[in-house]
Amino acid sequence: MAARQPPACLAGFSTSLLPPANDIAVDYEIRCKGCGEGRFHISGFPIVAPNPSPYFDVAPGATLWRPPHSLKCTHCGTGGRVFDARTNGYDGVLNGGCGYESGETGEQEVKGVFKVTIGLAYNTIDADIPELLDAAQEAKVGVADLFDWFTIDGEPVDGGQPIEFGYECA
Ligand SMILES: [Zn+2]
Repeated sequence: MAARQPPACLAGFSTSLLPPANDIAVDYEIRCKGCGEGRFHISGFPIVAPNPSPYFDVAPGATLWRPPHSLKCTHCGTGGRVFDARTNGYDGVLNGGCGYESGETGEQEVKGVFKVTIGLAYNTIDADIPELLDAAQEAKVGVADLFDWFTIDGEPVDGGQPIEFGYECA
């Protein structure tokens, strides 16, 4: 399958491919490209859901962490964006964005320090199909950039709560 290369949105980080759980999903353990450490702050654009909440699965008064999301090394401060729903993934690259509200201002770090795993999934195990290759070539991206699902898993290293952000991108 094509997704053995990390997508371009992870280029700012060191990535280690974890043993695959199945044929359509890949997980990368993330490390800092500056110092090699693997502990990060994770940021997003929080908004408190109004009543009634327009957000799926987010109760009135609860906080939704909107994309884009960035990581910042807790050791040396190196970091950068890992996911923007407007430009990353299948719909981000080919269709002008996927159907999530993105934040513009008010970026904040989620409380805590995390080991981070980025998960990507693809709709087809046969990513070498001509349509996908053509689409990637036309958009001047790698096939790995046309992922259909993106997740950020944060495993707390300071006794806090685990977090997971997941986005359907196709
Ligand atoms: Zn670092």
